[in-house]
Amino acid sequence: MVLGQEKVSILNLPTPLEYLKNLSDELGIQLYLKRDDMTGLGMGGNKLRKLEYILKDALDKGATMLITEGGVQTNHGRLTAAVAAKYNMRCGIVAIGDYPGELSANLLLDRLMGAEVIIKKDDGRPSTVQYKELVNNTIKKYEAQGETVYYIPLGGSDDNGILGYYECAVELTSQAAAMGIGDARVITAVGSLGTYMGLYCGFNNENSGLQLTGVAIMPFDHNKEQSIVKLFDRVKEAYGMKINAGLKDFNIEKDYVRGGYNLPSREVREAVRLMAEKEAILLDPCYTGKCFAAIIDMMKEGKIKKGEKIIMIHTGGMPGLYTKHHRVEFEKELIDGVTILD
Ligand SMILES: *Cc1c(COP(=O)(O)O)cnc(C)c1O
Repeated sequence: MVLGQEKVSILNLPTPLEYLKNLSDELGIQLYLKRDDMTGLGMGGNKLRKLEYILKDALDKGATMLITEGGVQTNHGRLTAAVAAKYNMRCGIVAIGDYPGELSANLLLDRLMGAEVIIKKDDGRPSTVQYKELVNNTIKKYEAQGETVYYIPLGGSDDNGILGYYECAVELTSQAAAMGIGDARVITAVGSLGTYMGLYCGFNNENSGLQLTGVAIMPFDHNKEQSIVKLFDRVKEAYGMKINAGLKDFNIEKDYVRGGYNLPSREVREAVRLMAEKEAILLDPCYTGKCFAAIIDMMKEGKIKKGEKIIMIHTGGMPGLYTKHHRVEFEKELIDGVTILD
């Protein structure tokens, strides 16, 4: 039994598992959505499950401030800011990249919830080196101000954070069984690997009948392959699991990256619009829209069979719809339905 480690209960669990009737009829599959976007705080998303376990560790260590890192529009940063606000801590978010020219989307929400954001231009060195340096300098700066800083790695995908998705696997297994779809295939977007790894460990270590497929939303290269194997070995030891897994056991689709991390893509916008028009559920252009676009392509390619039971995880991220570079593309496609009268 891996679960049992204490956490801080931030969420209202379980999140709903919903049948999407309109889209199922349209697509010819049985499509379900696990609503991990409906996790309350700070507009919700998958990082909150991780943060329940991470926060427990931070509070145990007497932290007064959370510092984390990510892209400029990181959802994880926004939800770290949310948790910090709720638990009376300071929050710092460190990003390498360009200021988008406006305080919008997650950046706006970060600041509304009181987080301090540190953005540094990419200087061309390996990004891990740049992040490490900037994070260390930032931690030193706040420690000098008397803060006890707790550092949370990219996406909250550490041993504590991953437990949040192990727990989700257990939760989803019993929900699916109760709905008579205990053998469905679960599909999730894959970024910093924590969500996928937590689900993988939870399903396999707890003998769930659910299958798991990941959709890489950024290039899944050799480094990433090494990372996922190393990550599994580490959590196996940390959690005391008996199961074994190697690279071939991780079922991750690599062909639906569509150019790179958080780049605009027409197919993704179409998927976002389809979900909104048929189900009134909003996806995001970086992760969940890409995941749903991949599901549609996998159906066309026969990787998903007619009538198959699919549970997509809605991992959140909707503020991303308001990032400038995505918004302007949507505007071109949708402005024709706006009538402006004198
Ligand atoms: C971070 C994130 C993911 C990916 O989760 P990882 O655990 O980093 O792989 C998926 N969807 C959204 C909306 C996210 O913010």
